Amino acid sequence: MSSLPPLREVIARHGLSASKALGQNFLFDEQLLDRIARVPGPLAGERVLEVGPGPGGLTRALLRAGAEVVAVERDARCLPALTELADWAPGRLRVIEGDALKVDAERALGGSGHIVANLPYNVGTALLVGWLTGEAWPPWWTSLTLMFQKEVAERIVAAPGSEAYGRLAVLAQWRSSARIAMNVHRSAFTPPPKVMSAVVHIVPAEAPAGVRVATLERLTAAAFGQRRKMLRQSLKGVPDAAEAMARLGIDATRRAETVSVDEFVALARVLDSAPSPRP
Ligand code: SAM
Repeated sequence: MSSLPPLREVIARHGLSASKALGQNFLFDEQLLDRIARVPGPLAGERVLEVGPGPGGLTRALLRAGAEVVAVERDARCLPALTELADWAPGRLRVIEGDALKVDAERALGGSGHIVANLPYNVGTALLVGWLTGEAWPPWWTSLTLMFQKEVAERIVAAPGSEAYGRLAVLAQWRSSARIAMNVHRSAFTPPPKVMSAVVHIVPAEAPAGVRVATLERLTAAAFGQRRKMLRQSLKGVPDAAEAMARLGIDATRRAETVSVDEFVALARVLDSAPSPRP
């Protein structure tokens, strides 16, 4: 493989000044990018969906690791630089111009594969919630390697009893395992964002039987919607929740942030097994 021009040169040549509106903070450090590309495990011959490749720093690292990459980028200005990269790794990079929130990622990737992304915070969280809430489990994706603001990463991996524990933690942990794979200093980005970042790695685990994701979501939305209130108050609007808590011996004077993921799952299971109301 021939060597590629340095990323900074590519960015200058294509006039890719970072757009604030698109949440663009680019990574240039090849060693750091290679470390991120190692988070999903060996990628030789693996299919990877990269969301938001920008000028292609992380894309290069994924290609160096031997992956076959499908990259979805919203900013048309980045496409010529990505086309150059596709020429460098023939047959291993397909670029789709579009909004990742609207693209059918499963189809784009051909059915299965890893997902890797360094995205703006709001887009990343919306995509994450979508990937975690699919009815089918195990899901079509093999693993998620996602850069977030450190504070969001901490919310994803949080344990009960902490300030960061909430809906996102329950959603990410009830049938997946989630960990912070590495912290990334703000100075690694160009331009540097205001806050620190972290890479989260999520892999699907076995789904607990008899629980629907919609029920769990309804429960956690109500419980954490009023996180300072006791469960008997916050879950008032959830039919049968009081009976379910009594049946499981969950003290209704507790607050949402003390309820473990397993306890939320158990509550959802009881609600899902409740006979539907008579017409
Ligand atoms: N991956 C590159 C890197 O690590 O240097 C760029 C990261 S930059 C933080 C985020 C990238 O996501 C930008 O290229 C931006 O244009 C792109 N992006 C933002 N919103 C997007 C969306 N909804 N769909 C696809 N790409 C998006």
